Amino acid sequence: MKVFLLVASLLLLTLVVPGPQSAADIVFKNGNIYTANEESPKAQAIAVKGDKIVFVGTNETAAKFVGANTRVVDLKGNTVLPGFTDSHQHLSGVGQREVTLNLEFTTSLEDLLAKLKERVDQAERGKWVTGRGWIETHWKPAVFPTRWDLDKVSPNNPVILGRADGHGAVANSAALKLAGVDKTTPNPFGGEISKDKESGEPNGMLLDSAQGIVRRHVPPTTRAEEERAVELGVKRDIELGWTQIQDAGGSFAEVDIFKKLYAAGTIKLRIYKAVYGPGPNATRLMKEGPTIGAFGNRLTVRTIKVVSDGALGSRGAALLGPYSDMPDTSGFLTVKAEELRPMLVEALRKGIQVETHAIGDKANRFILDEYETALKAVPPSERKVADPRWRVEHAQIVNPADIPRFAKLGIIPSMQPSHAIGDLFFAPKRLGMDRLAGAYAWESFIKSGVVVPGGSDAPVERGEPMIEFYAAVARKDQHGFSGEGWHPEEAVTRNQALKMFTIWPAYAAFEEKLRGTIEVGKLADLTILSADIMTIPELEILKTRNVMTVINGEIVYDAN
Ligand SMILES: [Zn+2]
Repeated sequence: MKVFLLVASLLLLTLVVPGPQSAADIVFKNGNIYTANEESPKAQAIAVKGDKIVFVGTNETAAKFVGANTRVVDLKGNTVLPGFTDSHQHLSGVGQREVTLNLEFTTSLEDLLAKLKERVDQAERGKWVTGRGWIETHWKPAVFPTRWDLDKVSPNNPVILGRADGHGAVANSAALKLAGVDKTTPNPFGGEISKDKESGEPNGMLLDSAQGIVRRHVPPTTRAEEERAVELGVKRDIELGWTQIQDAGGSFAEVDIFKKLYAAGTIKLRIYKAVYGPGPNATRLMKEGPTIGAFGNRLTVRTIKVVSDGALGSRGAALLGPYSDMPDTSGFLTVKAEELRPMLVEALRKGIQVETHAIGDKANRFILDEYETALKAVPPSERKVADPRWRVEHAQIVNPADIPRFAKLGIIPSMQPSHAIGDLFFAPKRLGMDRLAGAYAWESFIKSGVVVPGGSDAPVERGEPMIEFYAAVARKDQHGFSGEGWHPEEAVTRNQALKMFTIWPAYAAFEEKLRGTIEVGKLADLTILSADIMTIPELEILKTRNVMTVINGEIVYDAN
């Protein structure tokens, strides 16, 4: 017995006492660590070797991983979480927002015009002025700007300014003229040229695909400008504490930029990239096959992004019934079923993930129906990936009868908490009270048996992890306000919110064995915060700052 005990304790010692070769590269100690691993949810210290976590536990035991060349980081009680993932972001858009006229904090039409005037005054006569980020929700009155508003400050320079949601833009008269848009221009498929009710003239607002009529006249950004935008987007993301972003749509041109920047070592953020389909990018992905875990598990391209309707704010979201505040419209679908169907079948055979933007209850039912048909047509034995983990992006307004269908079909609703706290100012008007049951229904989804990866949809929203985490647990606006019909019971617990930005996005990216929790053997991605967002009062979450970001065991951002 004694011999056995001796052998056992020797074994134990060899497990925890490193020889020179098993000393860690970095040891983080004195942390308030939440692991998101249910078996051991809290810890004080983490040891990292190479890109992996080799120890999670007490300060005392972690000390044994300190060798002559180990860097020891004293966390001084800061809160450590598994590296946060933004499950739905548009990285180039976030970067472009930094480069062009950023209209994020525009408080009124006058404010927008003042910012525009400043930019126009610096521009050469006749040169394009573009920008993005305005949202009229809190303007008084809360109405879209018009071409005539913009003409007052920009009579000669063509202007197009995207609404924050990306599903609408306002252009001035010079821009419309260049694009040849007038009274007689028909609406394109999947879009609308808004008209003045009295004169029938285009009023400057272009919804969804109609933006393209004007945007194709804007000189393309150069490759160097695009690279710069990606670098700026990555810099911002890492400073905010994101360790991975799941980039919801784009092209292989962007993939090439990412590859170049990774190879040069200029970006470190993980990017899980989708490309748009149906169309040439989707066709190419299915032909060439996915890229998984390139550049040290940083770049994966295995997903096609479909857009099935518009947005609620611009009344482009496809609804089963008319809009409550504009009964002559119920929005529109933006993808043709006959183009979608063969692509879905091929994606299953080739092992390609599909994620579809669906905001309205009609779009959500449409895509569930289409997914279901394809899943039935291609049984698991004929699929390259048996459980394809297809996703619905936003899943914003879902008829309550359709919520259980997600779990039944194995479909993942990928949702953005900040949309609820912004949209809920106008959603009751657009939808009426009844349809708010099933809107932004995070808790109902979780209870139905699915995971809900959380994202920001930046640059549609600010793209800040603390805003998203707060929105998920509070379901109130940033001043703590919550209105009638906001369904407080759909707020999630802090533990659920933690999963929404860590292990659930990892699952939605087939990476749950690789990352998403703080566990031995997983990639060392950490988000380190100034306060304990698992316990502090809700509003203090918004004041919490990211102090350190760790990706693949490397400190890629340090606030100090
Ligand atoms: Zn999006």
